[in-house]
Amino acid sequence: MPVGGLGRIGMNWTLYGHDGRWVLVDAGIAFPDNDGSAGGVDAFIPDPEALHRVVGRIDALVVTHAHEDHIGAIQHVFPRQITCPIWATPFAAAAISRRLEEAGTLDEAEIRTFPVGGAFRIGAFAIRSIRLTHSVPQAVALAIATPAGTVLHTGDFKLDPEPLISLPTDIEAIRAVGDAGLLALVCDSTNAERDLPITSEAQVRDSFRRIFANRPGTVVVCCFGTNVARAISACDAASRSGRQIALTGRSLRAHAETAEKLGILDSQDMLAEPSHLRGLDRREMALVCTGTQGEENAALARLARRNDWRLPELGLGDTIIMSASVIPGNEAAVERVLEPLRARGVEVLTQSEAAEGQPIHVSGHAGRAELAIMHRHARPRFVIPVHGTDLHLRAHASLALDCGAQAAPVGADGVVMAVSAAGIKLIGRVEIPVIGISRDDGILPRATSAGKAARQTQRPGLRIAV
Ligand SMILES: [Zn+2]
Ligand SMILES: [Zn+2]
Repeated sequence: MPVGGLGRIGMNWTLYGHDGRWVLVDAGIAFPDNDGSAGGVDAFIPDPEALHRVVGRIDALVVTHAHEDHIGAIQHVFPRQITCPIWATPFAAAAISRRLEEAGTLDEAEIRTFPVGGAFRIGAFAIRSIRLTHSVPQAVALAIATPAGTVLHTGDFKLDPEPLISLPTDIEAIRAVGDAGLLALVCDSTNAERDLPITSEAQVRDSFRRIFANRPGTVVVCCFGTNVARAISACDAASRSGRQIALTGRSLRAHAETAEKLGILDSQDMLAEPSHLRGLDRREMALVCTGTQGEENAALARLARRNDWRLPELGLGDTIIMSASVIPGNEAAVERVLEPLRARGVEVLTQSEAAEGQPIHVSGHAGRAELAIMHRHARPRFVIPVHGTDLHLRAHASLALDCGAQAAPVGADGVVMAVSAAGIKLIGRVEIPVIGISRDDGILPRATSAGKAARQTQRPGLRIAV
């Protein structure tokens, strides 16, 4: 049963049940539009009350990777509303531990790690993790086997031939799952309507190398804090072009620290503090920062406001590389941050401006060609498209049928599907209200939550159909 993540981008939660026991895969948030319409709501989560019938029988939360739309709800509902152990790869486990620590509940939570490619058992569920490439370290797919058959939950992925921070996606392991007979593929649909070329982090690294070598002033790379490969590429480009480089932004530094502990990143090319750049010639400086979505408190906005003495002053001759997609709804917020920088003569390179034909950002999600490769190796009887709007889910369903699936039902949050050798059928529906979260106040009281949050929580209450 998808609890969240269908019909929207974000808030990925999926429940798998067998013989009365359940495993939850991922517990993420959805972001409101960054346009002021959400009335103090910083994020949305599915109302955990909607799961009250099964909550005592959820034996594990298993996490695919450390993105907000997969782990962002954990500290709001674990370990008090949902008490089961949390399983994750070491990189994701570190990110989850940090947020539980900030919430003051780390001592009560039970976090267990599994290696990328590792297998473990939760009651009747035999789970094997499979290495994937995505825009964060240690992303995995989960092959979940029960006596009723095997489901492959891909999580977010692409087929990057040169991901820089790991080996490529483990196609052999996916093929082995297919060889053993796969009942259903539950698969990322983010780019299912797009005919994209297969792209690689190595292309972005090569673009960075050219830009860092050719620009007269300071070069700033703005990316997501979880995108460790981008930070590594920026460090590589800096050291080749004789620049000193520092990281700024809380999440970027925290994830880089974890990546260094796990041997994914080597920080010897990096300065300890951005303030150590001060006094250098502008041609000798580079910076990696957060704030790709126009967030007011992120490092890019602090660079624009010039109110942080630790950060270099940017002006004519300096370059900012916006190395991320802008999430629809955030365009105006991003422009608000960039406008004063452009006015001071800073050149801003956005996604559409490739460097000599090479991209400065590549998507972390498979386009149609890569999805087709996944389907052809996994050879599932059924495909359940997840992680997308209706447009993405429908495009993915038709691709799945073209690739040989017997059925590819487009579900919705709360729709319960029974999958077995006998077939796939819809057996019920649970109403899943969405609730608003505020950074300052935690879960907002429903009666007073404003704007979109209030509208979404005024949906009818819980009706259990199963
Ligand atoms: Zn995602
Ligand atoms: Zn992701």
